[in-house]
Amino acid sequence: MKYVSTRDGNICVDSAQAILRGISKEGGLFVPDHFPKISLEFLEDLRGKSYLDRAVAVLSLYLTDFTQEELRRCVEGAYASGNFEGENPAPISVLSPDVYLLELWHGPTCAFKDMALQLLPYLMSQSNQKAGDGKTIVILVATSGDTGKAALEGFQDVAGTKILVFYPQKGVSAIQKLQMVTQRGENVGVAAVEGNFDDCQSQVKEIFTNPAILSRLEENGLTFSSANSINWGRLVPQIIYYISAYCDLVADEEIPLGEPVNICVPTGNFGNILAAYYAKQMGLPVAKLICASNENNVLTDFIRTGVYDRNRPFYLTTSPSMDILISSNLERLIFELTGRDHQLTAKRMDELKGAGRYSLTPEELKKMQEDFYGGFCTDAQVSQRIAHTFQQYSYVCDPHTAVALEVCDQYRQQTGDETRTIVTSTASPFKFTSTVLGALGEPVPDNDFAQLNELSNVSGMPVPPSLAGLEHQPVRFDRTVSRAQMEQAVYNLLGLK
Ligand SMILES: *Cc1c(COP(=O)(O)O)cnc(C)c1O
Repeated sequence: MKYVSTRDGNICVDSAQAILRGISKEGGLFVPDHFPKISLEFLEDLRGKSYLDRAVAVLSLYLTDFTQEELRRCVEGAYASGNFEGENPAPISVLSPDVYLLELWHGPTCAFKDMALQLLPYLMSQSNQKAGDGKTIVILVATSGDTGKAALEGFQDVAGTKILVFYPQKGVSAIQKLQMVTQRGENVGVAAVEGNFDDCQSQVKEIFTNPAILSRLEENGLTFSSANSINWGRLVPQIIYYISAYCDLVADEEIPLGEPVNICVPTGNFGNILAAYYAKQMGLPVAKLICASNENNVLTDFIRTGVYDRNRPFYLTTSPSMDILISSNLERLIFELTGRDHQLTAKRMDELKGAGRYSLTPEELKKMQEDFYGGFCTDAQVSQRIAHTFQQYSYVCDPHTAVALEVCDQYRQQTGDETRTIVTSTASPFKFTSTVLGALGEPVPDNDFAQLNELSNVSGMPVPPSLAGLEHQPVRFDRTVSRAQMEQAVYNLLGLK
């Protein structure tokens, strides 16, 4: 299997190179040159297997330049080492006879990004051995909160890698900050930056491409790489859990093998739902993909009209991980809708960068609507949905999952389609305690840790151990730097003089 760029048909690399580079040099995204097909026999075979075995089976279809032993080592490092609660890192909870919640938040940071960020470091380290130049990889992250912690947990003590995370001094919650500054591991570094997330992010981008910094790293046997959500090594782990979830539903006799299901995903950067679309392209029995957004509903409009237009107000909502107006992974869908036309994809992405807008042809729109439905909801609807889900099913969900449950319901009412549906649950409710407590009509204590305990009392669920223990962890990284000091902070954290 080779990987091509969405914007240039002449670029063709192995998966190890795609994972190491992250993004193609002309700005395109790496995509597999075809979709490997899976049959019902393949699913039948996986039905009785563990998540680890399923993961190796799916990855070996895509990462053909890795050996089975290499893949197994990567998968075991990510999913078998006690990082996830329970045997199955992505268990299903039956909400009602026809709605299943695929819980992707049983990892170390209690959000779905762990599913990919636990595996990526192993894939990257292995890719570096295959296709790299022997240098140690330095992952540089600017974070608004969740990604930084998930990346730190994933890269912690992974051989051949180091990770540095910068977060805005005033832009993260008390718990998010504690999660980062108490991070363990010999290869990690964390610093706060004066200013907001944009200040932090733009300086990280500048450091990434600054020739003087790059040569300083080079002299010391180091090289930068990135762990952001367009990296193929973050997308491919997400295909696994859709296939695994389907196998679980068959194994549990919820559905007969071969029966199509709908999949409903709370969507921001379009990575998670794209993985479900890729699984469908491979032959997983999937009917509709339901794309759920909050008030930043650029994707809803796009799926309904074929016009993508980022020129609109930006709202801060109670589902912050979906507050996005440019969904980077959508480029990979555009590439498929155009019949894999590199030039046309590049042209649309240019239009997006310039005027902030592009349109599909009527044929492309029709093709998209055969697979996708788009819907959105408001914060008030999210709040009601959290309350309703608790009253009706005694299930406490987080605000992102509530967006998906709400839009799933809208879809059913509008279309009458009662196909059984997997709703992707992307975060533990304990990550968003104040919103959840407020929605349930409970008092919201000022202190973050008091909120955790309050939610535990109300829901009857234990506080996730990784959050409960934070209050008493030693702080390892207490430095705050200005933007101008970030370069020096990189050297200090890497131990360069
Ligand atoms: C990142 C994130 C999302 C959005 O996922 P995409 O792959 O970017 O569409 C949804 N919910 C939570 C909790 C997230 O952290």
